[in-house]
Amino acid sequence: MGVLEGKKGLILGLANNKSIAWGVAKACHREGAQLGFNYLGEALEKRVRPLAEQVGATIVEPMDVSDDAQMDDFFEKVENQWGTLDFLVHSIAFANKECLKGKFRDASRDDFLLALDISAYSFVACAQRAARLMKPGGAMLTMSYLGAVRAVPNYNIMGVAKAALEASTRYLAQDLGSEGIRVNAISAGPIRTLAASGVGDFRKLMEKSARGAMLKRNVTQDEVGNAAVYLVSDWSSGVTGEIHYVDAGFSIGAGDPGTD
Ligand code: NAD
Repeated sequence: MGVLEGKKGLILGLANNKSIAWGVAKACHREGAQLGFNYLGEALEKRVRPLAEQVGATIVEPMDVSDDAQMDDFFEKVENQWGTLDFLVHSIAFANKECLKGKFRDASRDDFLLALDISAYSFVACAQRAARLMKPGGAMLTMSYLGAVRAVPNYNIMGVAKAALEASTRYLAQDLGSEGIRVNAISAGPIRTLAASGVGDFRKLMEKSARGAMLKRNVTQDEVGNAAVYLVSDWSSGVTGEIHYVDAGFSIGAGDPGTD
C-alpha cells in the first residue's frame, strides 16, 4: 500500500511532461494519492489533460493564479468535488524573459511586481484557500531554487521572488501550525523545463551545477517527486517551515553555479 493511499492532493503548475510537477504527480500517483490539477489557458490544457488522465486525475480545471476570481472558482470546484483536501503542491513561477538575463538592477517596477505576484504571492493565495479544506495532518509544498539565498547570474528577479517564497513558507508554517497543517519547500537543482528555458545561459548553469554537486550530476524531476512524497506524506509529520534541498549536494559545496 502506498504512503499516500486515501489522500487527495492538488498539483498546481503542470505544463508538460518535463515539468517538475509531472515528476511529483507520477510519484504521488504511484503512492496511491488521488490527484487534481490546474492548467493555465487552453494551449496548455491540451498538454495537461492527457497527462492528468495518465495518473487518473479526478479534477482538471483552469486556474490563472494572477486572477482571484479564477482561484476562487477553482477551489470551489475542489470543495464541491472532494470536500476535503490532504495536500497541495505549488510548482508555479513566472517572470518576463528579459529579466532573466543581464543585470538585476534594470528590473522595472512592473516586472518586479509580476515576478513576485506569480512566483511568491500565489503560494500564499493558494494556501489561504487550501487551508480551509484541510484537516490536521494537511501538508503544503512549494518549489524554490538556490537563487533565493545566493546571487546567481541571470536568475536576478526570480531569486528575489524565491527569497519571498521561502520566507512565505516559514510564515505560513507559523500561521497554520496550530491547525496541524505543515508547510515546506523543496529547493531543487536546475532541471531542463519550459520555465527554466527562460533563464539566460541555463545550459551553462546546469553544467556548473553538475560539476559542483557532491554527486557530480544534476537531479531529475523524479527525484524531486520522491522527495515531495516524503514532504506531503505523514512520513514528515514532524517537519514544517523547512527548505529541503534536492540538488545532488550542490548547495553544501564551494562551487559557484554561475561564474566563469
Ligand atoms: P514549468 O514551466 O514546467 O512549470 C511552471 C508552471 O508555472 C507552468 O505550468 C505554468 O503554466 C505555471 N504558471 C506560470 N504562470 C502562471 C499563472 N499566472 N497561473 C497559473 N500557473 C502559472 O517549469 P518548472 O521548472 O517545472 O517550474 C516549476 C517550479 O519549480 C517553479 O516554481 C520553478 O521556479 C521551480 N524550480 C525550477 C527549477 C528548474 O531548474 N527547472 C529549479 C528549482 C525550482
